[in-house]
Amino acid sequence: MAQSVKRAYKYRFHPTPGQAQELARTFGCVRLVYNKALEERTRASTVEGRRISYVETSAALTQWKKTPELAFLSEVSSVPLQQALRHLQAAFANFFARRAKYPVFKSRKKSRASAEYTRSAFTWRDGRLTLAKMDGPLDIVWSRPLPEGAQPSTVTVSKDAAGRWFVSLLVQETIAPLAATGKRVGADAGLTSLVTLSTGEKITNPRHERADRRKLAKAQRNLARKAKGSGSRAKARLKVARVYARIADRRRDHLHKLTTRLVRENQTVVIEDLTVRTMVKNHSLARAVSDASWRELRSMLQYKAQWYGRDLVVIDRWFPSSKLCSACGTLQEKMPLGVREWQCACGALHDRDVNAANNILAAGLAER
Ligand SMILES: [Zn+2]
Repeated sequence: MAQSVKRAYKYRFHPTPGQAQELARTFGCVRLVYNKALEERTRASTVEGRRISYVETSAALTQWKKTPELAFLSEVSSVPLQQALRHLQAAFANFFARRAKYPVFKSRKKSRASAEYTRSAFTWRDGRLTLAKMDGPLDIVWSRPLPEGAQPSTVTVSKDAAGRWFVSLLVQETIAPLAATGKRVGADAGLTSLVTLSTGEKITNPRHERADRRKLAKAQRNLARKAKGSGSRAKARLKVARVYARIADRRRDHLHKLTTRLVRENQTVVIEDLTVRTMVKNHSLARAVSDASWRELRSMLQYKAQWYGRDLVVIDRWFPSSKLCSACGTLQEKMPLGVREWQCACGALHDRDVNAANNILAAGLAER
């Protein structure tokens, strides 16, 4: 059965100087409203011992706009400001449900600048998007087509640390499930290769990543040498952000291709939960990057499996996937990290990661 899902399409765009100015001002107001409402909520809970609702923060915003100091809030579109309050509400809901930490203030330097526009705050005509308070449509780089006849319901504009502008369009889309297949696969996350499949295939990190990582390290060293507050430091920081953005983009692109392929080719995909994996303590940069990729990979697999009528099984309990012989089930006493290949007493010759992927697959199938 085809299902209707919400899907975001993200593009670069090039604002006119006027649009860039209006957006920068809107980002500033969004940050201010978010932080002020967060302060208000924190004060109410610590001083008065009560929770403030979204409706109350919304009423407070109306009052702020009437004060001389904050009257400028009325000059930007009101919708992104309201959306900021909704995001804060969601952050608190997650906190109270113990799904997230207490919300933190948005900082000009560290938080990604963004503004969210709902249907009443933009027009969408003949594939041209015009935001409230703007004189003309955005010059969007259509790197891939929007689905035929798509009507965006929400539009999010953002600017990253590398100074690039993005617009994300949320559209309702009908997705037909893929034809059923009997195939299934287990995937093991690794440091040397990104993912090893139970089929024996090893998927490496994106091309150029090693070279980009070296450039990143060089840019970071350069940044560390610059005096705080200097112009050359700001320049060096932008350089770091640009290299980092390129690595992240390539990696995400790579993960999209991989997850789409895994979901297309298999009825069932089995992976291990990240928290299980990190029981092995390792604080290297490579590990941090690989953990971030794994989280992203898991979330992509999750929604794509749902879209296409596939099953994703996540093993959330620890088991000795590397020490177990996938052929006979014998547990090896020890399996040092350096051992890439080994032979079991039963005669089976194993590649360490492929064996682990096979054990993950078997454990996943046993759980269902
Ligand atoms: Zn064996």
